[in-house]
Amino acid sequence: MQTDRHGLLRVARAALHFWEEPCISGTSGSGAVFFCGCGLQCVFCQNYRISRGGAGKNITTDRLSDIFLELAEKGADNINLVTAGHFISQVTDALIRAKDRGLSIPVVYNTSSYERVEDIRRLDGLVDVYLPDFKFMDNELSQKYTRVSDYPETAKEAIREMVRQTGEAVFYIKGEKGRLDAEEYNESGEALMSHGKEVLMQRGTIVRHLLLPGSADDSKRIIRYLHDTYGDTIFLSIMNQYTPMPQTASDPLLGRRVRDSEYDEVIDFAISEGVCNAFIQEGDVAKESFIPDFDTNQGV
Ligand code: SF4
Repeated sequence: MQTDRHGLLRVARAALHFWEEPCISGTSGSGAVFFCGCGLQCVFCQNYRISRGGAGKNITTDRLSDIFLELAEKGADNINLVTAGHFISQVTDALIRAKDRGLSIPVVYNTSSYERVEDIRRLDGLVDVYLPDFKFMDNELSQKYTRVSDYPETAKEAIREMVRQTGEAVFYIKGEKGRLDAEEYNESGEALMSHGKEVLMQRGTIVRHLLLPGSADDSKRIIRYLHDTYGDTIFLSIMNQYTPMPQTASDPLLGRRVRDSEYDEVIDFAISEGVCNAFIQEGDVAKESFIPDFDTNQGV
C-alpha cells in the first residue's frame, strides 16, 4: 500500500500514451497516469521500477485532479488510470473534483484485476472503460509468478463487476455525432480509420491477456472462460509483447520471448471458439523500448 495518513499518493508519470489498443490511444494519445506500487509483484513485471517503488513522486488528491485536467487540455482522448487500485479513495475523489471542474473525456481504468469487488463498485459511474488483465487461470502459475495464489478467482469476480457496469461496448467517431456498436466497429472501424477518422471506445470492457512463454494452454483456458461467460459483450486483447526483463533472464521460460508459433496457436484457438471481438498484435512489438521512461516523473 502506497498511501499515507496525509492522503498522499504516488505517481510516476502522467503523459500522452500511444501504445494502448487503437480505440483507446487514438491518434492524440491516451492520458495515462501511472501509479506507483502494485499488490501482485509479478516476477516478470515490465514496469518494475514503479511497481516495486523507486521511481515516482508523492502528490495530493488536488494535484491529481489538476493532472487529469491538464491531460485533457493537452488533447488526450481519455484519462487512463494505470494500476490505481491501492489509491482508490484518492482516485475517486480526484475524479469527482475533476468532473465537477469540467472533465468530460472518458475515464479508462487499467488494472491487473487483482482488486476487491467493493473497490470496483466505488468506480461505478466514474469509469467508462475498463481495461482489466486476465493473467492466469492456473493457481499454480499465480503462485509461481506473483506473490498471491488466488489471482484467478479474484480476477473473475472483479471482471464480472466491471462488465456489469459497462455492459456492451460502444464506440464513437471523434468529432461526429452518433455511436457504433461492437458489430459496426468490427465491420467498419478499420476502414473509417484508414480514411483518417478516429474511432474510440466510449464505454465497454476490454480484457487483456498477455501470453507468457510456455503458457499457451493456460491462455486457451482464459479465452474459453471469457468467451463462454461474456460472449460478444466484451472485447479481448490477446498480446504477444512479453519482454524478458533482467530479473527473469535466467528462467528457462520467462527468459525468452513468446514464439510466433505459440501466439498463432492461441489466436487460432480464439477463432475456433468463435471469438469475434478481439485485438491481436502483429509484427515485432516485444521490445523494452516500448516501456515508458519513468525516471523523469513527467507530467507529475
Ligand atoms: S500486475 Fe502489472 S504492474 Fe503489477 S507487478 Fe504485475 S506486471 Fe507489474
